Amino acid sequence: MRNVYMNGTFFTMDSGNRIHETGMLIEENGTIQYIGPYAADQLTEHDHIVDLKGKWVLPGLVNTHSHILMTILRGIGDDMLLKPWLTTRVFPLEAQYDTEIATISAQLGVLEMLLSGTTACSDMFNPIGIDVDAVMDAIGATGITGAISHTIFSFGSEQEQRANLQAAERFAKNYKTWADGRLTTMVAPHSTYTCSTQALVESVRIALDHKLMVHIHLAETDHEVEEIQASYGVRPVEHARRLGLFAQPTIIAHGVVLDDEERAILSACDVRVAHNPISNLKLGSGIADISKLLDRGIKVGIGTDGVASNNNFDMFEELRTAALLQKGLYKDASKLSTPQVLALATRSGAEAMGMPQTGSLEVNKHADFITIDPSNKPHLQPVREALSHLVYAVSGRDVCDVYIRGKQVVRNSHCLTIDAEKVISEANRLQRKLKW
Ligand SMILES: [Zn+2]
Repeated sequence: MRNVYMNGTFFTMDSGNRIHETGMLIEENGTIQYIGPYAADQLTEHDHIVDLKGKWVLPGLVNTHSHILMTILRGIGDDMLLKPWLTTRVFPLEAQYDTEIATISAQLGVLEMLLSGTTACSDMFNPIGIDVDAVMDAIGATGITGAISHTIFSFGSEQEQRANLQAAERFAKNYKTWADGRLTTMVAPHSTYTCSTQALVESVRIALDHKLMVHIHLAETDHEVEEIQASYGVRPVEHARRLGLFAQPTIIAHGVVLDDEERAILSACDVRVAHNPISNLKLGSGIADISKLLDRGIKVGIGTDGVASNNNFDMFEELRTAALLQKGLYKDASKLSTPQVLALATRSGAEAMGMPQTGSLEVNKHADFITIDPSNKPHLQPVREALSHLVYAVSGRDVCDVYIRGKQVVRNSHCLTIDAEKVISEANRLQRKLKW
């Protein structure tokens, strides 16, 4: 059946940033068949018509760096730098996980993402000692799209490290095409400071063998740069390049501490960057100079990181922060313009994570879109400068409907694929099992 969505303002986020007031979108089998101004000649008598009544419609947001399994850890460790936060809070708590905690954590994370308009994510998992199938089944059932990766660390004995690499490879292979092809995998060595050179080389091998992207935390803090320089005599980007990490498409999370030489390497190797402004601020890591990356033509997306360092998955808040930071950093209000930052959170983010079939409303792309209803919302009135409102006034809580591949997953701010009441109650019960 064809679904026709009309009477909304459509922000296509295509390369021309076209906006169709009183526009129309036709979807069939999960794909966009028509997008443009209302056109009576496009309609057939069997079409199912959905009247959007003045809503704003834009592509689903793309979160290029998240950790949904950490959602249950929301609120741990405020006011801490990355290293002590990771080693004294995150890692000891993750070690206490069981399948139930991981599943509810993932469901709570995706619930928050869907309700706030995110339809695709690139997520890093640390599934120690849990039934991965159960968690992946639960994520698949939510309707979200994206790439999930199993984190690789060089912790513990040689045997434990080998087991971790084997589990990561099994994960990469088993879930490469998952949930009707909505989900895929990447290979995720955690970072250059938690992975041995051997683990990094082996990560490259897995990515090449299975034709997958690499997803790694890189150039996040001054401390990381000092540590890698002390151990290997080069900065993290050069260390990663020498080990072959950029031999296939790679997305790095952060890129806060980069010099010009490193930016040149990232550009030459077509390395993409997931910019996580709020997490970088909260952990005291710094401000990534996204303007310089964009000037070099590097593909940049926006990410939230996990909610233990954010502390939410609201991509609207994230993209607003990204725009404000560049303006402040350069004392130049023209930096990271409104259409530019919206593109980072949609089309560019999708391209950065190797999923160009989503992120904009264009014919033949997936029908992944969200609606916002500005009526009765004082903070979104008057509506004339709606594009500006999408960056500077909207929050994730304003999202009304969410469609992924044509299927509605959120209606009137209620998730249709996840039992929100149960997940919230379970998350509170299970968090009490963790000792901190
Ligand atoms: Zn991260």
